[in-house]
Amino acid sequence: MEPISPAHDTYPPVQEEVARIAGSPQVRAAFDRFRAHESQFALWQMEATRLAAPPFGEAPRAAWLADRFRELGLTDVHLDEVGNVFGVRPGYGSRYVALSAHIDTVFPAATPLNIRQQGSRLYGPGVSDNGAGIAAMLALASVLASARIVHALPYLFIGNVGEEGEGDLRGMRHVFATPRWRDAIAYSVIVDGAGADTIVAEALGSRRFEVIVRGPGGHSWSDFGAPSPIIALARTIEAFSQTPVPATPKTTYNVGVIRGGTSVNSIPESASMRVDLRSTSMAEIDRLERALRIALEQAVAAENRAVAQHGTRKPQLVQSEVVEIGNRPAGELARDARLLKVIRAVDVQLGNAAQVQRASTDANIPLSLGREAIAIGGGGSGGGAHTLQEWFDCNGRDLGLRRILLTMLTLSGVSE
Ligand SMILES: [Zn+2]
Repeated sequence: MEPISPAHDTYPPVQEEVARIAGSPQVRAAFDRFRAHESQFALWQMEATRLAAPPFGEAPRAAWLADRFRELGLTDVHLDEVGNVFGVRPGYGSRYVALSAHIDTVFPAATPLNIRQQGSRLYGPGVSDNGAGIAAMLALASVLASARIVHALPYLFIGNVGEEGEGDLRGMRHVFATPRWRDAIAYSVIVDGAGADTIVAEALGSRRFEVIVRGPGGHSWSDFGAPSPIIALARTIEAFSQTPVPATPKTTYNVGVIRGGTSVNSIPESASMRVDLRSTSMAEIDRLERALRIALEQAVAAENRAVAQHGTRKPQLVQSEVVEIGNRPAGELARDARLLKVIRAVDVQLGNAAQVQRASTDANIPLSLGREAIAIGGGGSGGGAHTLQEWFDCNGRDLGLRRILLTMLTLSGVSE
């Protein structure tokens, strides 16, 4: 994290360009519309959030969003193979400024979605993460449709699936694996959650594994000497947990779940664990993965050697398997990236204090590919993310929307 310094110290041309755009009558009119249409944005936010969108179950919300995109005059509205929703506001270049919001939630399909409004506050699961992002994207599309602003580069609106948990960034991963979009997206502005006080420009990488050890099992007395998956797994954890990790780049590991065995007097037939590796550096994640695999190989070999020495009549050995259950690539925006200069200049223009942060978001995908991307909030304030007590307060939403609009317009260029 670092405080934002006034962009005029470092980047005079960008700061002047932002001031020029912010001062134009059309943009000032758009700013006014953000305030005037707040009640519509809150309605959209609640409508979207009332449609369940668990990982791999986003289709109803995607269909709803595609209808809104069409109503708001976006062109080329369509869904792709994985369920991402696209809409375009044409411009004059071949490369796009993308504005995206993930449409999935962490909540299972059966979660009661009691979405309600009390004064300026909206309540209910998913209302902020990412109801706020979806509402911001629709607010931008609607204000651009009514304001007479001519932007140079075209805008690509994306409601993407699969950001949360087991979704493993599958929506954004697919966007950047699609030939039509892969090289055509010049900048990605990702709206995730509430607020206007952060700039996620550093992607925290993670890799997750399920490690399974299997063996013949047996009776604790009569089959004594048969190899034990639990002991092999315990040896793995013991060895792996001694792997040194650097403070910089920050790197962590966690054994979060262990399972195995059936009863106190049975040699287990299997044991498993779930391991989470994180770092801002892909090289460190690779190094930790190698350490994990070596620890496992050596522990399994040691357990099998012990069996051989014990000389049981039919030596059946333990075997291991490593299944990758999650992979989010790391990366970061270069300090001299245009997108970083632009968002900082926009914050200076708006008198907004924001900090650069590191997190795991949809921005991991473009950042890991060396593309310019940031994740920012949709304005207002929120809390209780990933709980049933989640809330969003619409007060101050317009600051977040002005921030997104000015960023998009500066990135695309605006015709007089
Ligand atoms: Zn989110």
